[in-house]
Amino acid sequence: MSLPPFHYARELRFQLKLSGPVNPWEVADRLQIKVSEEPLDADGYLLQQNNNTRILISKKIDYKPRKRFTIAHEIGHFYISHHQAGIFRCLPKDLQSFRTNKKVENEANEFAAEFLLPAVEVEKYLKHPPDFDLIKEISEVYGTSLAATAIKIIELTSEKAAVILSEAGEVKWFVKSKSFPYWIKKGRLHEWTYAYEYFVQGALSSGPQQLPAVAWCQGAPQDAAIMEDYVAVDRLGMVLSLLLLPFNETEDDLGDDFI
Ligand SMILES: [Zn+2]
Repeated sequence: MSLPPFHYARELRFQLKLSGPVNPWEVADRLQIKVSEEPLDADGYLLQQNNNTRILISKKIDYKPRKRFTIAHEIGHFYISHHQAGIFRCLPKDLQSFRTNKKVENEANEFAAEFLLPAVEVEKYLKHPPDFDLIKEISEVYGTSLAATAIKIIELTSEKAAVILSEAGEVKWFVKSKSFPYWIKKGRLHEWTYAYEYFVQGALSSGPQQLPAVAWCQGAPQDAAIMEDYVAVDRLGMVLSLLLLPFNETEDDLGDDFI
Protein backbone atom coordinates (compact mmCIF):
# COMPACT_ATOMS: atom_id res chain seq x y z
CA MET A 1 0.00 0.00 0.00
CA SER A 2 1.37 3.40 -0.85
CA LEU A 3 0.88 6.17 1.68
CA PRO A 4 0.43 9.84 0.76
CA PRO A 5 3.72 11.71 0.29
CA PHE A 6 3.18 14.03 3.27
CA HIS A 7 3.15 10.94 5.49
CA TYR A 8 6.72 10.07 4.42
CA ALA A 9 7.84 13.68 4.93
CA ARG A 10 6.44 13.75 8.47
CA GLU A 11 7.86 10.31 9.23
CA LEU A 12 11.36 11.30 8.13
CA ARG A 13 11.24 14.54 10.14
CA PHE A 14 10.15 12.50 13.16
CA GLN A 15 12.84 9.86 12.70
CA LEU A 16 15.57 12.49 12.39
CA LYS A 17 14.07 14.52 15.26
CA LEU A 18 13.78 17.62 13.09
CA SER A 19 11.68 20.61 13.97
CA GLY A 20 11.37 24.02 12.35
CA PRO A 21 13.44 24.91 9.27
CA VAL A 22 15.69 22.13 7.97
CA ASN A 23 18.95 22.12 6.06
CA PRO A 24 18.56 19.62 3.17
CA TRP A 25 22.36 19.26 2.80
CA GLU A 26 22.62 18.16 6.46
CA VAL A 27 19.64 15.84 6.08
CA ALA A 28 21.24 14.19 3.03
CA ASP A 29 24.47 13.83 5.00
CA ARG A 30 22.64 12.11 7.88
CA LEU A 31 21.07 9.72 5.34
CA GLN A 32 24.57 9.05 3.95
CA ILE A 33 23.68 10.60 0.62
CA LYS A 34 26.41 12.59 -1.07
CA VAL A 35 25.18 15.83 -2.68
CA SER A 36 27.10 17.58 -5.42
CA GLU A 37 26.47 20.35 -7.91
CA GLU A 38 27.29 19.33 -11.47
CA PRO A 39 26.73 20.48 -15.04
CA LEU A 40 23.56 18.49 -15.81
CA ASP A 41 20.94 17.97 -18.50
CA ALA A 42 18.26 18.08 -15.79
CA ASP A 43 17.63 19.93 -12.51
CA GLY A 44 18.38 16.96 -10.33
CA TYR A 45 19.28 13.29 -10.22
CA LEU A 46 18.99 10.61 -7.59
CA LEU A 47 21.44 7.80 -8.30
CA GLN A 48 21.27 4.60 -6.29
CA GLN A 49 23.79 1.83 -6.91
CA ASN A 50 24.32 -0.91 -4.37
CA ASN A 51 24.65 0.98 -1.10
CA ASN A 52 25.93 4.13 -2.73
CA THR A 53 23.37 6.93 -3.06
CA ARG A 54 24.06 10.30 -4.61
CA ILE A 55 22.06 13.43 -5.36
CA LEU A 56 23.26 15.62 -8.20
CA ILE A 57 21.82 19.08 -8.66
CA SER A 58 22.35 21.33 -11.63
CA LYS A 59 25.00 24.01 -11.33
CA LYS A 60 22.64 26.28 -13.25
CA ILE A 61 20.28 26.59 -10.28
CA ASP A 62 21.34 29.79 -8.53
CA TYR A 63 18.21 30.48 -6.47
CA LYS A 64 18.80 28.95 -3.06
CA PRO A 65 15.18 27.96 -2.29
CA ARG A 66 15.20 26.11 -5.63
CA LYS A 67 18.36 24.19 -4.64
CA ARG A 68 16.84 23.32 -1.29
CA PHE A 69 13.60 22.16 -2.93
CA THR A 70 15.46 20.08 -5.53
CA ILE A 71 17.50 18.27 -2.85
CA ALA A 72 14.37 17.67 -0.75
CA HIS A 73 12.59 16.37 -3.88
CA GLU A 74 15.43 13.87 -4.51
CA ILE A 75 15.36 12.85 -0.83
CA GLY A 76 11.66 12.17 -1.48
CA HIS A 77 12.52 9.74 -4.28
CA PHE A 78 15.01 8.11 -1.91
CA TYR A 79 12.66 7.84 1.04
CA ILE A 80 9.22 7.11 -0.46
CA SER A 81 9.11 3.34 -0.30
CA HIS A 82 7.53 2.69 -3.69
CA HIS A 83 10.01 4.93 -5.56
CA GLN A 84 12.36 2.14 -6.42
CA ALA A 85 14.10 3.12 -9.64
CA GLY A 86 17.88 3.15 -9.52
CA ILE A 87 17.95 6.50 -11.29
CA PHE A 88 15.54 9.42 -11.10
CA ARG A 89 16.21 12.17 -13.62
CA CYS A 90 14.16 15.23 -12.71
CA LEU A 91 13.60 17.91 -15.31
CA PRO A 92 12.74 21.56 -14.60
CA LYS A 93 9.13 20.95 -15.63
CA ASP A 94 8.90 18.05 -13.16
CA LEU A 95 9.93 20.38 -10.35
CA GLN A 96 8.54 23.73 -11.44
CA SER A 97 5.00 23.12 -12.51
CA PHE A 98 2.72 22.81 -9.57
CA ARG A 99 1.09 19.74 -11.03
CA THR A 100 3.22 17.68 -13.32
CA ASN A 101 1.40 14.74 -14.88
CA LYS A 102 4.10 12.31 -13.73
CA LYS A 103 2.87 10.63 -10.56
CA VAL A 104 6.26 9.98 -8.97
CA GLU A 105 7.42 13.55 -9.66
CA ASN A 106 4.25 14.92 -8.12
CA GLU A 107 4.78 12.73 -5.08
CA ALA A 108 8.38 13.88 -4.67
CA ASN A 109 7.20 17.51 -4.93
CA GLU A 110 4.55 16.95 -2.29
CA PHE A 111 7.14 15.26 -0.08
CA ALA A 112 9.52 18.24 -0.46
CA ALA A 113 6.76 20.78 0.20
CA GLU A 114 5.85 19.12 3.50
CA PHE A 115 9.41 18.22 4.50
CA LEU A 116 10.64 21.81 4.13
CA LEU A 117 7.47 23.53 5.28
CA PRO A 118 5.33 21.33 7.55
CA ALA A 119 1.62 22.14 7.67
CA VAL A 120 1.61 21.95 11.46
CA GLU A 121 4.18 24.77 11.66
CA VAL A 122 2.54 26.99 9.03
CA GLU A 123 -0.80 26.72 10.84
CA LYS A 124 0.71 28.62 13.78
CA TYR A 125 1.08 31.66 11.52
CA LEU A 126 -2.47 31.67 10.18
CA LYS A 127 -4.06 34.01 12.69
CA HIS A 128 -4.94 36.66 10.09
CA PRO A 129 -5.97 36.56 6.44
CA PRO A 130 -2.92 35.72 4.29
CA ASP A 131 -0.98 38.54 2.67
CA PHE A 132 2.42 38.87 1.03
CA ASP A 133 4.07 40.06 4.25
CA LEU A 134 3.17 36.70 5.78
CA ILE A 135 4.19 34.75 2.67
CA LYS A 136 7.57 36.52 2.60
CA GLU A 137 8.11 36.06 6.35
CA ILE A 138 7.48 32.31 6.22
CA SER A 139 9.52 31.87 3.03
CA GLU A 140 12.50 33.57 4.69
CA VAL A 141 12.24 31.51 7.88
CA TYR A 142 11.89 28.18 6.07
CA GLY A 143 14.00 28.89 2.98
CA THR A 144 11.12 28.10 0.62
CA SER A 145 10.18 29.96 -2.56
CA LEU A 146 7.36 32.50 -2.49
CA ALA A 147 5.25 30.27 -4.73
CA ALA A 148 5.73 27.12 -2.62
CA THR A 149 5.04 29.10 0.56
CA ALA A 150 1.92 30.71 -0.89
CA ILE A 151 0.56 27.33 -2.01
CA LYS A 152 1.01 25.85 1.47
CA ILE A 153 -0.71 28.81 3.12
CA ILE A 154 -3.63 28.69 0.68
CA GLU A 155 -4.04 24.95 1.24
CA LEU A 156 -4.30 25.52 4.99
CA THR A 157 -6.14 28.81 5.41
CA SER A 158 -9.81 28.98 6.35
CA GLU A 159 -10.07 32.25 4.39
CA LYS A 160 -11.55 32.43 0.91
CA ALA A 161 -8.25 32.88 -0.89
CA ALA A 162 -6.44 31.84 -4.05
CA VAL A 163 -2.94 32.17 -5.45
CA ILE A 164 -2.19 32.36 -9.16
CA LEU A 165 1.06 32.25 -11.08
CA SER A 166 1.02 33.98 -14.43
CA GLU A 167 3.69 34.33 -17.06
CA ALA A 168 3.73 36.61 -20.11
CA GLY A 169 0.14 37.66 -19.44
CA GLU A 170 -1.25 34.13 -19.11
CA VAL A 171 -2.38 32.13 -16.10
CA LYS A 172 0.01 29.18 -15.63
CA TRP A 173 -1.62 27.62 -12.57
CA PHE A 174 -3.72 28.48 -9.56
CA VAL A 175 -4.46 27.03 -6.15
CA LYS A 176 -7.58 27.97 -4.20
CA SER A 177 -8.47 27.44 -0.57
CA LYS A 178 -11.19 24.98 0.40
CA SER A 179 -13.70 27.76 1.02
CA PHE A 180 -12.92 29.85 -2.10
CA PRO A 181 -16.14 29.58 -4.10
CA TYR A 182 -15.01 30.20 -7.70
CA TRP A 183 -12.75 28.75 -10.35
CA ILE A 184 -10.00 30.93 -11.75
CA LYS A 185 -10.20 31.67 -15.47
CA LYS A 186 -7.40 30.06 -17.46
CA GLY A 187 -5.60 31.62 -20.40
CA ARG A 188 -5.04 35.35 -20.98
CA LEU A 189 -5.29 37.64 -17.97
CA HIS A 190 -8.28 39.97 -17.95
CA GLU A 191 -7.27 43.57 -18.56
CA TRP A 192 -8.89 44.63 -15.26
CA THR A 193 -6.47 42.52 -13.20
CA TYR A 194 -3.46 44.12 -11.59
CA ALA A 195 -1.31 41.25 -12.79
CA TYR A 196 -2.23 42.23 -16.37
CA GLU A 197 -1.34 45.83 -15.58
CA TYR A 198 2.08 44.66 -14.45
CA PHE A 199 2.77 42.79 -17.69
CA VAL A 200 1.68 45.75 -19.79
CA GLN A 201 3.10 48.65 -17.83
CA GLY A 202 5.52 47.31 -15.19
CA ALA A 203 4.93 47.50 -11.44
CA LEU A 204 2.42 50.22 -10.59
CA SER A 205 0.19 49.27 -7.70
CA SER A 206 1.25 48.49 -4.18
CA GLY A 207 -0.77 46.67 -1.60
CA PRO A 208 -4.11 44.89 -2.01
CA GLN A 209 -6.67 46.56 -4.28
CA GLN A 210 -10.30 45.83 -4.92
CA LEU A 211 -11.64 44.86 -8.32
CA PRO A 212 -14.64 43.04 -9.80
CA ALA A 213 -14.34 39.32 -9.07
CA VAL A 214 -15.35 38.46 -12.65
CA ALA A 215 -11.94 39.69 -13.82
CA TRP A 216 -10.42 36.58 -12.22
CA CYS A 217 -13.22 34.19 -11.38
CA GLN A 218 -15.53 32.02 -13.44
CA GLY A 219 -19.12 32.19 -12.32
CA ALA A 220 -18.72 35.18 -10.00
CA PRO A 221 -21.71 37.54 -9.86
CA GLN A 222 -21.22 40.72 -11.88
CA ASP A 223 -21.37 42.85 -8.74
CA ALA A 224 -19.01 40.75 -6.60
CA ALA A 225 -15.71 42.29 -5.56
CA ILE A 226 -12.41 40.70 -4.66
CA MET A 227 -9.09 41.91 -3.28
CA GLU A 228 -5.97 41.33 -5.39
CA ASP A 229 -2.35 41.78 -4.45
CA TYR A 230 0.68 40.61 -6.36
CA VAL A 231 4.42 40.33 -6.38
CA ALA A 232 6.51 40.22 -9.51
CA VAL A 233 8.92 37.30 -9.55
CA ASP A 234 11.44 39.11 -11.73
CA ARG A 235 13.86 36.21 -11.64
CA LEU A 236 11.38 34.22 -13.72
CA GLY A 237 9.41 36.98 -15.46
CA MET A 238 6.32 35.81 -13.62
CA VAL A 239 3.71 37.33 -11.35
CA LEU A 240 2.31 35.72 -8.25
CA SER A 241 -1.17 37.04 -7.40
CA LEU A 242 -3.08 36.62 -4.18
CA LEU A 243 -6.88 36.91 -4.20
CA LEU A 244 -8.97 37.29 -1.09
CA LEU A 245 -12.72 37.48 -0.58
CA PRO A 246 -13.77 39.32 2.58
CA PHE A 247 -14.56 36.63 5.15
CA ASN A 248 -17.54 38.16 6.87
CA GLU A 249 -19.47 39.19 3.81
CA THR A 250 -21.65 36.93 1.77
CA GLU A 251 -21.26 36.89 -1.96
CA ASP A 252 -24.48 38.85 -2.25
CA ASP A 253 -23.33 41.89 -0.39
CA LEU A 254 -19.88 42.12 -1.95
CA GLY A 255 -19.05 44.70 -4.50
CA ASP A 256 -21.37 47.58 -3.80
CA ASP A 257 -18.73 49.80 -5.35
CA PHE A 258 -19.43 48.29 -8.75
CA ILE A 259 -23.18 48.71 -8.86
ZN1 LIG B 1 12.00 13.78 -9.42
